[in-house]
Amino acid sequence: MKILSLDAVETLDSRGCPTLTAAVVTDKGRFYASVPSGASVGAHEAVEKRDGGKRLSGKGVKTACENVCTMLAKAIAGREFNDLKELDDIIISCDKYPDKRTVGANAALGVSMAAARAFALEKDMPLYRYFGDMALLPCPMMNILNGGVHADNNLDIQEFMIMPVGAANFRECMDMGMEVYAALKSLLKQKGLSTAVGDEGGFAPDLENDGQALEFICDAVVKAGLRPKKDICLAIDAAASGWFNGEEYVLSKSGRHFLRQDLISYYKKLCADFPVISIEDGIHEDDFEGFALLKKSVDVQVVGDDLFVTDTERIKKGIDADSASAVLIKPNQTGTVTQAAMAVNTAAKAGMAAVISHRSGDTEDSFIADMCVGLGTGQIKTGAPARAERTAKYSRLLIIEHELGKNAVFAGKNSINNVKWLDS
Ligand code: PGA
Ligand code: ZN
Repeated sequence: MKILSLDAVETLDSRGCPTLTAAVVTDKGRFYASVPSGASVGAHEAVEKRDGGKRLSGKGVKTACENVCTMLAKAIAGREFNDLKELDDIIISCDKYPDKRTVGANAALGVSMAAARAFALEKDMPLYRYFGDMALLPCPMMNILNGGVHADNNLDIQEFMIMPVGAANFRECMDMGMEVYAALKSLLKQKGLSTAVGDEGGFAPDLENDGQALEFICDAVVKAGLRPKKDICLAIDAAASGWFNGEEYVLSKSGRHFLRQDLISYYKKLCADFPVISIEDGIHEDDFEGFALLKKSVDVQVVGDDLFVTDTERIKKGIDADSASAVLIKPNQTGTVTQAAMAVNTAAKAGMAAVISHRSGDTEDSFIADMCVGLGTGQIKTGAPARAERTAKYSRLLIIEHELGKNAVFAGKNSINNVKWLDS
């Protein structure tokens, strides 16, 4: 496929911050893609290019857009490519730093995603098919209660999520999630608590503690006529890197301090009291050994996000240390689609699951929905079943399921590896 030219424009993300939308032009048309942006950004992530200066608090991405039209276009425009890997290798070679700080991971990823769309059309296939022959609809982690840096409430844990593992198909899974979301809203209202939402569309009330958050969610499950554990399991993302001060974990909203072992005991108690099936970033991003201790201590999925930052080398390190049972995949942590897909493969070969993920600042681009189905990862994390930047992904998955018809397979509880109690 010949790429005629590249283009980019500064657009808006869901937090009202500038983001980059790239265009790849071929003789079949213009293919667009928009990149997301995180708030609890891992220290080892690829680097977003931001303009700095006064305009839009320094968050502008005009330089990144320019880099698409100069640095990347110089290497890509007018050339033929056999596949996305070939193009992504060129993108990678445009920056002497692996973290893409010169070109900008936002510039790099925008072009990579837009090119994936162009390649799919060139081959006359839907985007999900370009990623592989799998037709696996994921079991989502729906973030229905927000805390941490994603909300101005008093909860330290960043994400309280539900996984409708008991659903028979993706449609039913979404119904369950939407019913629980609505039930949670009405329970919070009844108690006179806020139903305003955080960055990922989940409610963000002030509560007594994390336990009360999980209890509210279980009550909402029951109110929706569903069974906690059988139909709906819970998942959390602690985002604990944000708590760590180099010595201990300081949960500043609630004023608690934990040493690593106490924090692990705390998670053990949450898992004993509630049907928690997955813990993400329970330990800070440089503690591979602490992650391994957590994994040994709890019978639930342990997910590495800031720990791995979608980086194959860090995932290999985590495999050697037995640090986690799953890896979170955020394409903008690494800066090209091919590197993100490689991270999935590296994890899969070691028997680890992969959870394809949005960012807290996201856009209406539903790219990750197709990526998740085609790669067959079985899990996706894309916020509450509300707010357009989150629902774009869920709606796209519903459309893919509809399009696949009888060929669609729903991951359900098989999406989670090696958790004994889930099968009982
Ligand atoms: P972020 O949050 O996009 O703000 O990094 C998502 C996460 O931590 O999983
Ligand atoms: Zn996370």
